[in-house]
Amino acid sequence: KKVLIVGSGGREHALAWKLTQSPDVEQIYVAPGNAGTLGWNVNIMANDISSLLAFAEEKAIDLTVVGPEEPLTLGIVDAFQAKGLRIFGPSRAAARLEGSKSFAKEIMHAANVPTARWEVFQDSQRAKLYIQQIGVPCVLKADGLAAGKGVIIAEDLETALQAVDEIMEGALKSSGKTLVVEEFLTGPEVSLLCFTDGENAVPMVPVQDHKRALDGDQGLNTGGMGTYTPPPFWTPELEQQVMQEVVQPTLKVMQERGETFQGVLFVGLMLTPEGPKVLEFNARFGDPETQVVMLRMESDLLSVLWACTEGTLQDVQLKWSEDTAVCVVLASPGYPQAYTKGISIHLPSQVQDNYAIFHAGTAATNGGQLVNSGGRVLGVSAKAPNLVKAREAAYQLVESIDFPQAHYRYDIGIKGLTN
Ligand code: ATP
Repeated sequence: KKVLIVGSGGREHALAWKLTQSPDVEQIYVAPGNAGTLGWNVNIMANDISSLLAFAEEKAIDLTVVGPEEPLTLGIVDAFQAKGLRIFGPSRAAARLEGSKSFAKEIMHAANVPTARWEVFQDSQRAKLYIQQIGVPCVLKADGLAAGKGVIIAEDLETALQAVDEIMEGALKSSGKTLVVEEFLTGPEVSLLCFTDGENAVPMVPVQDHKRALDGDQGLNTGGMGTYTPPPFWTPELEQQVMQEVVQPTLKVMQERGETFQGVLFVGLMLTPEGPKVLEFNARFGDPETQVVMLRMESDLLSVLWACTEGTLQDVQLKWSEDTAVCVVLASPGYPQAYTKGISIHLPSQVQDNYAIFHAGTAATNGGQLVNSGGRVLGVSAKAPNLVKAREAAYQLVESIDFPQAHYRYDIGIKGLTN
């Protein structure tokens, strides 16, 4: 089979890497890819849907897999399906589970899914009055996609009221004409990604992300500085509860509305004292979650993706390694603010089976030198029989990489040793 992967991050490299292990995959293309996917790259941007469509038709691609959220919310799946092309991911309407936080809340309400209490506002004065009533801390969210920058946790009233203006009138205006104000929840966070054909869903392994830039969850929010799987507090009972109370009812409501959700349903959860509650849905594989998930996946990825597009996921059983996997993200110096590009990077010539270095913001110069070209640059992953060993292995591999002034966290996975 010929597979086209859309995107250019560590997630897409990890998916491509995993697909190379599928006996039925004869050719992989990645659009636009990075220096880690060099032999497979096609020079088309992930949001250029008409060019991707033309490419898929010309090459007779058997399956397209969409990485990032933007092409999904632009309707890449609808466009491909209209031409009879097989594509893994939700339609434009279904992708609103990620693309609009108020839509996600509406669905959660209809499906009786546990989540933080909330109100939706189009009028900033009303939003401010409401916040004065409910008090702080509270959480303010721009309705639309904001690349992780649309959420403000306000500890005091002044910050909360300012945040209303910031989201509704300021820099976030395009994604924040609608504002969601939410109850502040506490507890450990965990993500559960599920494959789904719209009706059946199969969970992947649970992952904990590290979103802040600095050790101890300090500093600015980022796209994600590292992940590990599984967190120690996760249990089969918890998984069953999330599948029954969150995933199944959500898919059912989507189906009933004629907006069947096929692809990856990514459930961001907080384990509150009252039980698990949904913080957010994403409509795709997470990054860097996917890097550790793929490292632990023992089943054939192509068959699962195929079954999702075919509606035959009930026949699929997934196998996972019992090992713990850790991914440490190496970012450019300065990230998540302005950063320097073009720094030469030297990788070890070989990595062993239990390791992987997935590329994100990397490029190759004309002379073939590997350089950084984006914020997050490499995802350095390792798996081992327990978290202590997996951390040790991942950081040892980090040490073997020559990337001057790389920014990374030293405490990825520490949460799992202490909580
Ligand atoms: P992402 O980058 O994951 O797509 P996002 O912009 O979609 O993020 P959310 O995941 O909804 O935003 O929120 C980001 C973070 O803010 C969460 O990971 C969590 O730490 C915190 N957060 C969100 N909602 C709440 C809440 N109700 N109570 C406490 N913290 C919250």
